[in-house]
Amino acid sequence: MGGDRGAGVLAVGLGLVAIADARRLVCDTATVRGLPENAANHEHRTMTTLLYTHPACLAHDPGEYHPESPARLRAVLEALSAPEFARLQRREAPAAPRDVIALVHPVALVDRLLAAVPQTGHVGIDADTIMSPGSGEAALRAAGAVVAAVDAVVAGEADNAFCAVRPPGHHAEPRRPMGFCLFNSIAIGALRARETHGIERVAVIDFDVHHGNGTQACFWDDAALFYASTHQYPLYPGTGGTRETGAAGNIVNVPLPPMAGSQQFRAAISRTIIPALDEFRPGLVLISAGFDAHKSDPLAQLQLDESDYTWVTEQLLAVAHTHAHGRVVSSLEGGYDLVALGASAAAHVRVLMSV
Ligand SMILES: [Zn+2]
Repeated sequence: MGGDRGAGVLAVGLGLVAIADARRLVCDTATVRGLPENAANHEHRTMTTLLYTHPACLAHDPGEYHPESPARLRAVLEALSAPEFARLQRREAPAAPRDVIALVHPVALVDRLLAAVPQTGHVGIDADTIMSPGSGEAALRAAGAVVAAVDAVVAGEADNAFCAVRPPGHHAEPRRPMGFCLFNSIAIGALRARETHGIERVAVIDFDVHHGNGTQACFWDDAALFYASTHQYPLYPGTGGTRETGAAGNIVNVPLPPMAGSQQFRAAISRTIIPALDEFRPGLVLISAGFDAHKSDPLAQLQLDESDYTWVTEQLLAVAHTHAHGRVVSSLEGGYDLVALGASAAAHVRVLMSV
């Protein structure tokens, strides 16, 4: 499954090894606003979009200098608090039950990981992947958000959903948390869709700047699960070459060189990924929505901007309308420039709402 080129440390040079910091965590109590649903009788069709999040996702704190900070989620929620997003149906993310996480991760690993969550200070899983006292519940809520969103969208309670959660998930392999990720939330959601709702073919499209090695590993042997990724290459985690196609041609990787921008990204989506999706005919479209391919992002060198996130979301909604009754569930992955992250997530959700 590809070489180790580029493998190593995701947050290069940030010195994330001081894990004995016992400073007190300040649990942010940003509330999840419940707003009445009043979107009926609009003159023209607008989409009903769910927003899943939970304050516990702000209490996962990998350390003061870690780029995957609670401030990221605050930036996303702040952007989505603008008046144009008042119509979002806001729901608290439940914690994913252990047996649902076990669709992807062995129960023994889940138990071991949760048992390793520290009472104070930090525990490092690797140089990048650090747990604080709030990390266990945050990871359970992040996975639970995607599971609940899949349940709700498949039940027809809404057209689509965005999960504003952290930690991210796409680097987490079935037996190995890594790369800021503890549980692979989007893969858990995919398996949930199949096991509980009988959706035969589920696709994940991942436009995070890093390759989702974890999701690829989960889907590799399963012809009914499709994973497509655009990502900078070479870059952490080192996987994602074009020859990594899965056991049944169900994996599509489009690596992009550093400094690639809108044109190359859009060509990858429209010439390679959309045709493969049309052939696969997913019954549900899941999105690993990382916004770190933005030109302002400090962790990579792709040159996208908000208009590219608008565009790709439109393309994926169109695929969902063709094959999946419009059903889309998207979940936050990376994105480390706070201003770009807020604006990009807003651009993405704006299209989901079709406003
Ligand atoms: Zn990333």
